[in-house]
Amino acid sequence: MSPLDTVCSNLKRLRTLLFVLLPAAVILAGILGTFLAKVTLRSFNKMIGTIHQIEAKNLKLRINAPDTGDEIKKIADTFDNMLERLDKAFSSQKQFAQDISHELKTPLTVLKGELEVALKKSRSPKEYESILSSSLEEIDKIAKIVESLLTLAKFDSKEEPLNIGRMDLNLLIQEIVSDMKILAEQKNVEIKFLQRKEMILNGDRDQLKRLFVNLLDNAIKYTPQGGKIILESKKEGKIINIEISDTGIGISQDELPRIFDRFYTVDKSRSGVGFGLGLSIVKSIVEAHKGNIEVKSVLNKGTTFTVHLPVYPA
Ligand code: ADP
Repeated sequence: MSPLDTVCSNLKRLRTLLFVLLPAAVILAGILGTFLAKVTLRSFNKMIGTIHQIEAKNLKLRINAPDTGDEIKKIADTFDNMLERLDKAFSSQKQFAQDISHELKTPLTVLKGELEVALKKSRSPKEYESILSSSLEEIDKIAKIVESLLTLAKFDSKEEPLNIGRMDLNLLIQEIVSDMKILAEQKNVEIKFLQRKEMILNGDRDQLKRLFVNLLDNAIKYTPQGGKIILESKKEGKIINIEISDTGIGISQDELPRIFDRFYTVDKSRSGVGFGLGLSIVKSIVEAHKGNIEVKSVLNKGTTFTVHLPVYPA
């Protein structure tokens, strides 16, 4: 046998092998590919099925993909996280709508009752006067709630354009303190304002006034006779800190994280006239000025709110 014959027979064997193995490899790859694609598509189909079922009413649905550690698991987890955030946002909107209805229902029921009583029989002008003035009180309550809600809605939609101007915060607080001193004196509560040099910042005068009036009003409201309220302004670099401390009834540690929530009142019996919207507005104003607010409190000892405001908000 010549060497050429050996090469030829080897080549023939190789050709036969290629004819058999190549199609076999292609078929195997095809089967494997189809299997893998099916496994992958199964996860996608599950995802699509869940997405189809999702609507505002059942945001609690989750894909809960098995822990495969691949990209599909990552997409499914990202989607589940997004659903979690949407669920929270929808729930708080729902709660907010319920709270609004609840808060408006009470003064409306009282108002309706008063008017019904007035119409039952004819009354003396004095009686009509008394019914009308107590009806006016209820209307004032409703107007206050609606006005606060409108303010919050404007801040939420970033519609409330801040009227930023250069101002001295110390002068503004001095003005507020002298206006509200009468209110405090009626309760025999002392107010002191400790100020260092001037505190110039760029801010919206009216909104900042609303912020400090709310905080001071609360301090007066929740501080019993003979108590003390101290306001102090300090500057640390480009941040102005205003501290408002009172020797009032304080807030328990459990309640502290919730006091900035809308319609949250610590205890209806102790707050009396509050709707629980004041501190939500305070927070919105501080945040619109790119600042933040902190609170520390000890029950039956007192509360300190600290407002941090940047000198030049961006
Ligand atoms: P309200 O109109 O009821 O005062 P706010 O939003 O202003 O509503 O305050 C929320 C709750 O925080 C109040 O119900 C009150 O119990 C509590 N709170 C606020 N400021 C003080 C304070 N200085 N001392 C004690 N409790 C306070």
